Amino acid sequence: MRLRNVPGSREEIARSRYVVQEDVMKEKRGHWNEVFGNDHPLYIEVGMGKGKFIAELAGRHPEYNFVGIEKYSSVLVRAVKKREEQPDLENLLFLRMDAEELPEVFGTEEVAGIYLNFSDPWPKDRHAKRRLPSREFLARYDKILAKDGRVEFKTDNRGLFEFALEEAKEAGWTLEACTFDLHNDEEMVQGNIMTEYEERFSGMGQAICKMVIRR
Ligand code: SAM
Repeated sequence: MRLRNVPGSREEIARSRYVVQEDVMKEKRGHWNEVFGNDHPLYIEVGMGKGKFIAELAGRHPEYNFVGIEKYSSVLVRAVKKREEQPDLENLLFLRMDAEELPEVFGTEEVAGIYLNFSDPWPKDRHAKRRLPSREFLARYDKILAKDGRVEFKTDNRGLFEFALEEAKEAGWTLEACTFDLHNDEEMVQGNIMTEYEERFSGMGQAICKMVIRR
């Protein structure tokens, strides 16, 4: 994602009641149910960008809790602004953090499911371990994901998708569902929520790939 510094974004995030702040988020490890005040299953989106997908998902599923994770304040602030227009959405919070720290923020098996949407491709081989569906990240997801939990990954980037399939196999995960053309896959497209990037790339005629994996 091209990044533009948004003046005041850090301050706005620091003020927001929808963001669990960096100085306390690790204290919530294993206690996210208390943060939400219920014992609903918790789903997270890693690299959520401006948050359209997770906000829509949270609206559809009041019976679950959702945490949207984004590394950059300048991007997260857009999700926060939108969130402020939806005060009735009680089941959605945000974290500004690098996903490398996930196991320090969520406890063992605390997360019911993980969404990765249009993750940055990091095309250079030497950066492969920064890719969110890499084996290094799968090992982090393994620590926090419930036994029967799934990781769902969507992208328009065929190379990244093939890398993700290979990484999941190498790491011993089971491929539960897979399509190279989500929008024309009658079964997998059911209930699909378009992300910002998905709207942009499918609008340009690009096919969207999706996989669902579990251990
Ligand atoms: N998921 C959104 C969508 O589909 O429209 C945004 C896609 S954008 C290409 C990828 C996002 O992931 C960026 O906002 C980026 O800052 C975030 N990101 C990349 N690596 C991350 C990491 N290690 N931890 C948290 N967020 C990350």
